[in-house]
Amino acid sequence: MKLRPDIEAFAQELTDWRRDIHRHPELGYKETRTSGLVAERLEAFGIEVHRGLGGTGVVGVLHGSLGDGPSVGLRADMDALPMDEAGVAEHRSTVDGVFHGCGHDGHTTMLLGAARSLAASRAFKGTVNFIFQPAEEGLAGARAMMEDGLFDRFPCDEVYGMHNWPQLELGTASIRPGPVMAASDRIEIEVKGRGAHAAMPHRGVDPIAVSAHIITALQTLVSRGTDPQDAAVVSITAVNAGSTFNVIPHTARLLGTCRTFRPGTRDRLEAEIERVAVGVAAALGATAEVTYTRGYPPTVNHPGPTGRFAQAATAFLGAGAVSDDADPSMGGEDFAFMLEEVPGSYLWLGQGGDFDLHHPQYDFNDVLLPVGASLWVELVEGPR
Ligand SMILES: [Zn+2]
Ligand SMILES: [Zn+2]
Repeated sequence: MKLRPDIEAFAQELTDWRRDIHRHPELGYKETRTSGLVAERLEAFGIEVHRGLGGTGVVGVLHGSLGDGPSVGLRADMDALPMDEAGVAEHRSTVDGVFHGCGHDGHTTMLLGAARSLAASRAFKGTVNFIFQPAEEGLAGARAMMEDGLFDRFPCDEVYGMHNWPQLELGTASIRPGPVMAASDRIEIEVKGRGAHAAMPHRGVDPIAVSAHIITALQTLVSRGTDPQDAAVVSITAVNAGSTFNVIPHTARLLGTCRTFRPGTRDRLEAEIERVAVGVAAALGATAEVTYTRGYPPTVNHPGPTGRFAQAATAFLGAGAVSDDADPSMGGEDFAFMLEEVPGSYLWLGQGGDFDLHHPQYDFNDVLLPVGASLWVELVEGPR
């Protein structure tokens, strides 16, 4: 791997910017300080800037100096997570309950680094749209920008996304065509029984006992009902009922998530979760009401752009550093919405380290900043 010399020269500034954003994390759609910094820097690089797409989203437009060519969208996310940081770094979060636990501070900074380099050289054909999106963590900021006319106002022939990946070694990357991240949907089940004195259970219908049966029955939807070659997850993640020792509550509320890759599997599990919950409740004399909310679609990489991204990564990181055999992740990714509308691809960039994404001691690896920025530049300047 050989960093772009100009980017290597301002790598320390990238670290300073990243740590500044890390100290001042902002939740989805509240990234006013972060998007302000992004817009100011893009303007300082001489890039045309558009603010306020999907709330706090920013787009920078830069034309190359080598003539006509494709319009390429490069996307970074800016939001932090609603959780406390347990790390002790000097640049740790200064905001209680808000933390850059997914490295979006690093993604934002890597794309700023690429913008700075490309604005100075303009050594490419066509146009680059730098897309800084809000609210990746569950709040669909990509879709909000698209509903605000992202691809109508800034047409893109291709769109690319990149995420740091602690499970991959620093200096490596993983990319493949097809599904790479799962569809991510929410399950909410309201179980209604009949409240009673706990010493006289026969006078009521216990929604906790009913919930236990529903949860057990739901386990079979994947283990017994889904093709073992077709990955899916149904997890019940919250059970809320009751308040004391001697009262059988009237209701119970279950929350969970459903992850799938194939549209048919998604449709089937949505229907079967309802069928099982309603049926089991009815069998035990209770009722269940299921609310299934579709979140992010699966993230599906398109072959052509995936080939170009893999080629750029191989040219930059070296042969052998880029794999195409990493398993898809059951995590969800908002970039999926962009890939539904525009051909493109999403790459995992290895950052190593002891802590996974969303761990309270996670921190973006600053060594990766000039690496990611250089890879973006390689992609834009590369053959197509
Ligand atoms: Zn995340
Ligand atoms: Zn993330």
